Amino acid sequence: MNLTDQEIARASTMRPINQIAQKLQIDEDELRPYGKYVAKLPLRLIDESKMIGKKLILVTAITPTVAGEGKTTASIGLCEGLNKIGIKTAVVLREPSLGPVFGMKGGAAGGGYSQVLPMESINLHFTGDFAAIEKSHNLLAALLDNHIHQGNTLNIDARKIVWKRVMDMNERALRDIVTGLGGAAQGIPRESGFDITAASEVMAALCLAKDLVDLKEKLGNIIVAYTYDNQPVYARELKAQGAMTALLKHTIMPNLVQTIEGNPAIIHGGPFANIAQGSNSIIATRMGLSLADYVVTEAGFASDLGGEKFLDLKCQYGGLKPDLAVIVTTIRALKSHAGVKFEALKEPNAEAVKVGLENLEKHIENIKHFMLCPVVAINKFYTDTDEEIDIVLKRCEALGVKAAISEGWEKGGEGCIDLAKVVKEVAESGKSNFTPLYNFDWPIEQKIETVARKIYGAAEVEYSLKAKQQIRLFNKIGLDKVPICIAKTQYSLSDDPKLINRPKGFTIKIREFDIAAGAGFIIPIAGTIMRMPGLPSKPAAENIDIGADGNITGLF
Ligand code: ADP
Ligand code: MG
Repeated sequence: MNLTDQEIARASTMRPINQIAQKLQIDEDELRPYGKYVAKLPLRLIDESKMIGKKLILVTAITPTVAGEGKTTASIGLCEGLNKIGIKTAVVLREPSLGPVFGMKGGAAGGGYSQVLPMESINLHFTGDFAAIEKSHNLLAALLDNHIHQGNTLNIDARKIVWKRVMDMNERALRDIVTGLGGAAQGIPRESGFDITAASEVMAALCLAKDLVDLKEKLGNIIVAYTYDNQPVYARELKAQGAMTALLKHTIMPNLVQTIEGNPAIIHGGPFANIAQGSNSIIATRMGLSLADYVVTEAGFASDLGGEKFLDLKCQYGGLKPDLAVIVTTIRALKSHAGVKFEALKEPNAEAVKVGLENLEKHIENIKHFMLCPVVAINKFYTDTDEEIDIVLKRCEALGVKAAISEGWEKGGEGCIDLAKVVKEVAESGKSNFTPLYNFDWPIEQKIETVARKIYGAAEVEYSLKAKQQIRLFNKIGLDKVPICIAKTQYSLSDDPKLINRPKGFTIKIREFDIAAGAGFIIPIAGTIMRMPGLPSKPAAENIDIGADGNITGLF
């Protein structure tokens, strides 16, 4: 097959969005249409009583490699497959960020014959949610600088401001800047910088909020700076939260679109999976569960990052009880974990697959730690041999774990019927009894050590002096009873990206903490983290074009 994702998307016929809404029994009057094929959904469609007995399926993956795992593609394919076997299913996903679209990775609207539509619009601006989040975030920054300029009655130490600005672009030149230059009329010169919008705490807060009132409270609780005597300064002290939330009036509503086969897809929010929770909004997931019988939802990176945060942080905050987790794996990635170089991944190599299975086994164990049944989905590439696939299927059988091949990329829903049947069987078996790993009120160290030992497989956790001091501060200011959101590399179960496959006996080193007091978590940082990516030497943007007819090309 040599059609690009975009050509496949263009060749598909889209149904008007009210027809998709009908599948979920949404009254046409309830839709807030954005053109013909996209609509926002009002929050009153969330109905606790309709969520009872519904099935929530998390899609996670093995440790990512450059080879690519295909979680979004598998999630959409599984949604098509479940609908094909007669189960009313919605896929609930994150919104793509422009950073990766113009940079390297490409969009986040699936691939091949498992995509959400209209893919151009979803990947470029969509309904303006990211822009609104950016405005809301930057309004707070403007109010903060203005407060200091106007006399600084809050006694803010300009050297201890922790609130930066954001934009939805890979822009390394703005990582570290000096603002307020140009004389007394231009404010106070100080060091600052930009993060990408997906890293904004406003994004994280929006995706954990229940409704507008809850969101406003969360935004008011954001810590923006410290005073000269080291007291935290909150957004509410700048009276920012009302206007910030007003800017998000429409953004808080999830977006309804469709898959290639005309099934419902709800797309909402896009927080990072390292410094934030890495999955779509609680509002969108709960709306999906109110409207459909099965909800398939993806969490970023592997089970140790987006997966763990989905299960511990988002599910506990959102009162969600998942029924099973699909672990997406590819033969290529397994070989890659055995040390096979990228260029050689196309060659058959059964021995390497066997070695890489150790990584898959760890992710299976991780899901079981949450008392959830795992289902392994082998996302099939055309280079995979039957022998290689058989090795994975046999190992899963030996472990007593259900597995199926997922061919959604090549065949759409038809290619995911086996997977859908397995998912249905496991979801209905009632064998899962979801239990989070930790309670929010455990001591900070106990929460970190539980995740590090059980999920990462670490032998030890080490704290820097700074981290220890911060823990004492959190205990003092009452920031200890919140979930943790550990920021570490996605390329390893450990905090060292070079330790592939299943490393053992390693130490997780917590350097320091970031705080997201508004969103409601603290961020233990293990390793260096990037809040503002840069563009690669050949940015994807160079290939994107638009013709006189308005047709966009080159989106991958
Ligand atoms: P993830 O959500 O895990 O980051 P995606 O589903 O976005 O991964 O897939 C990453 C890329 O890999 C996409 O461009 C997609 O088209 C491609 N891809 C996914 N599955 C396959 C497959 N089976 N064969 C070929 N390409 C695939
Ligand atoms: Mg994805």
